[in-house]
Amino acid sequence: TTRVSLDGLRKHFDNAPAPAIAHLDLQTEEGEFISLLGPSGCGKTTTLRCVAGFEFPDEGRVRLNDEDITDLPPEKRDIGMVFQNYALFPHLTVWRNLAFGLEMRGIGKAECRRRIDDVLAMVQLTALAERYPRQLSGGQQQRVALARALVIEPRLLLLDEPLANLDAVLREDMRVFIRELQKRVGITTLYVTHDQSEAMVMSDRVAVMLGGKLLQFDVPEAIYMRPRSVEVARFIGRSNLIEGSVEGLTDEPGPYPTYRVSTALGSVPASHDQPLATGQPVHVTIRPEAIRFRNDGPYAGRVQSAYFLGSTVEHTVQCAGGQGLLVQTSPGRRLDAGAQAAFAFDPGHAWIISAAP
Ligand code: ADP
Ligand code: MG
Repeated sequence: TTRVSLDGLRKHFDNAPAPAIAHLDLQTEEGEFISLLGPSGCGKTTTLRCVAGFEFPDEGRVRLNDEDITDLPPEKRDIGMVFQNYALFPHLTVWRNLAFGLEMRGIGKAECRRRIDDVLAMVQLTALAERYPRQLSGGQQQRVALARALVIEPRLLLLDEPLANLDAVLREDMRVFIRELQKRVGITTLYVTHDQSEAMVMSDRVAVMLGGKLLQFDVPEAIYMRPRSVEVARFIGRSNLIEGSVEGLTDEPGPYPTYRVSTALGSVPASHDQPLATGQPVHVTIRPEAIRFRNDGPYAGRVQSAYFLGSTVEHTVQCAGGQGLLVQTSPGRRLDAGAQAAFAFDPGHAWIISAAP
């Protein structure tokens, strides 16, 4: 299998005010499933198109293992790609859609048949081989697009928001389907999405992008629990961001050193893995589900709203110094609007962001 390496990629379209990719370094391991996650317009598709060979970067190199493919045309790269709109040939059957790329590559009839049979079985479409795309559901068309990308036995699989056009239930099923298929084939995959839960569930590692730059590249848990910047904390899930300044290191035990931070709530304990200076301005991020209402809790506020979401209740709490907080509890622990609330959280669930916003 294949390692992908993007080294110093830059792409500025002629008529655009800002570069689509400002500067991008990204290296994968073999067989990894990597998501490029970020809001619309942050450069995800442009990055994939540079890897596929549909765009050429102004600067930087694209490598598969140690081979530099930056200047190769798409058909010489051995890369499979699935587009958001599937881009199937409407006038060809499923079978012919799959055969097309193989015949282009000069692959013989018997080998074509073997590969198409295999890949159709893999995506569970054997029975539909003679249908045309318009005779298939959205989910089935999606699987044909996946099959067409895989049948050429590519070195790398690229998926650009492949689930964006499917309804919510099917989308969740297809997440699992694609991830299982990817593991079975063992193919290194770059997956583009703006859906953070999709990226979290599916990926070995997530690359969070904003404005053509890579903000953080890490395992899903680290992206969620240990964001490196205010932007990542804001973009990933709902989070509380509290301004403060470092008071000093404590000797509380934990997987990471615990500091005390002076904030509008008072002095709060929070973790960080880098040395911090006393007085240094920081943000503390606390996930809403990490805060617990407790009568003996050290912090206090007043509940402004409580929304029942089914499995959880989401509260907004107004605290000292005008600090607002989101607090998520189980329905059994809900407080009503207007109630006085005392609350607590573990230092392990409060994470310090030291980068300037
Ligand atoms: P994403 O896939 O993350 O939504 P894109 O890579 O499609 O983002 O686009 C990144 C930026 O580059 C956007 O501002 C977009 O308008 C711009 N862009 C993309 N393709 C072109 C193009 N062919 N010409 C000019 N600007 C483009
Ligand atoms: Mg896109």
